Amino acid sequence: MAIVNVARFRDRRGRQGWLRLMAMLPALLVLSSGKILEANQKRPTRLIERAPAPKKIDYDKLTSEATALLSQEIRIDTTNPPGNELPVAKLLKEKFLADGIPATVWEPFPGRGVIAARLHGTGRHAAALVLLSHMDVVPANPKEWDVPPFSGEVKDGAIWGRGSIDDKGPGVIELMAMLAIKRAGLLLNRDIIFIATGDEEEGGRNGAGWVVTHEARVFADARYLLNEGGGITARPNGKRYFAVSIAEKTPLWLKLTAAGEEGHGAVPPAATAVTRLVAALDHIIAYRPPIRILDPVEEYYRDIGELDGGPAEFFHLKRALRDNPAFVRSFVAVPRQAALVRDTYTPTMLAGSPKTNVIPATATAEIDGRILPGDDPQADLDAIKKVIDDDSIKVDITLNFPAVSSPRKSVLMSAIDELAESEDVPVVPTMIAGFTDSHYFRQAGLIAYGFIPIELSPAEEKGVHGINEHLPVKQLDDGIRRMVELLETIGGH
Ligand SMILES: [Zn+2]
Repeated sequence: MAIVNVARFRDRRGRQGWLRLMAMLPALLVLSSGKILEANQKRPTRLIERAPAPKKIDYDKLTSEATALLSQEIRIDTTNPPGNELPVAKLLKEKFLADGIPATVWEPFPGRGVIAARLHGTGRHAAALVLLSHMDVVPANPKEWDVPPFSGEVKDGAIWGRGSIDDKGPGVIELMAMLAIKRAGLLLNRDIIFIATGDEEEGGRNGAGWVVTHEARVFADARYLLNEGGGITARPNGKRYFAVSIAEKTPLWLKLTAAGEEGHGAVPPAATAVTRLVAALDHIIAYRPPIRILDPVEEYYRDIGELDGGPAEFFHLKRALRDNPAFVRSFVAVPRQAALVRDTYTPTMLAGSPKTNVIPATATAEIDGRILPGDDPQADLDAIKKVIDDDSIKVDITLNFPAVSSPRKSVLMSAIDELAESEDVPVVPTMIAGFTDSHYFRQAGLIAYGFIPIELSPAEEKGVHGINEHLPVKQLDDGIRRMVELLETIGGH
């Protein structure tokens, strides 16, 4: 079934444009003037004959190149901090230039790197698409890994190493898909812009944030963007779907500072900086922000209910979470679910005295707060202060930005829909509890989706920010094929 569908779509997409153009030409010429018609008869189809047919894409070659490139990238340790993405950016630039695709590298801060490349299409009529990825990675402790995390070793049909999935692998898929289109001689009706940044794992201010602030011209003609944050996945019953993230929660990171008299631990006063801080944290831990179900979340659970065949509450989540207390309890008992319907505040960093017998003058705690899109951060901050109920504690916001969601419908989503249809699986738009660099570009007006067309097993997903991260070569191959198909669709072929 799936194979038949793929064939049907390829055929339609590959020929439809030319057929339509050829069918229209005589009519257009007749309508214009007799003279042109005459000229046309002398050199009837010269233009069309001159256009070479697209070359066949050699996927085996692309995959072996992609495997080598990803290994090479992994061997450049880009643990953030400090990042050190510049050598990776240069490597990718060389890869683009070798195939005649213009590319540029910036060094926004010493050692940090950003690369952009542009595959030109006819460019004038349709807005460009950005393919975004990041080159920095989270730390890896070699002692915990079966394979050295910065070896890029190819073993058991997979490429092993930190960044193979998050996010160097996806960047390689995007890059190779652009090379494939270029080598095939396909002229898309829009430009495709590749951007790989650094610093994503530390919030992206020195990467994507820098690009949007300083080099926005690079994507000035773009309206769409694909990034990490979604992929192909399966329910426990085996039913597959394309998870495309269209919305993200936004951070409201807080720093609490409590003050008090310093002194000796042997003669403690009734309240100290530490005891005040602990009481404040106690209140925050007990705080349950109100439940609020956003449209994308309600729609997500309806889709999941359909794939799973229930439970009935998933088909009317708003109502169930309002009227059914037993369901509410079971629903929010799953952290992943609770995070999608309410704000969360999690204490993560603590600092007090450096010595057991010294009462410090200040004690601090940092809270990883995550708020739902559309929340007013100032109102949330006021609510937290009320919860803390101690005016002597200072509360500062250390990270926050506006949460902008992307619409469910767009040219890009239609292309993803078509790709999913060719594999006979549904598209399920999602909201993610974390955040990616997409928000920088959403704020700049782009429609951004989290979707990398690879299918990972739960075990493979555990490698992301975990141990033994590895990407199966087959996923690299499938990912490039799907990305090429997606680009062809959105590029009008
Ligand atoms: Zn990532």
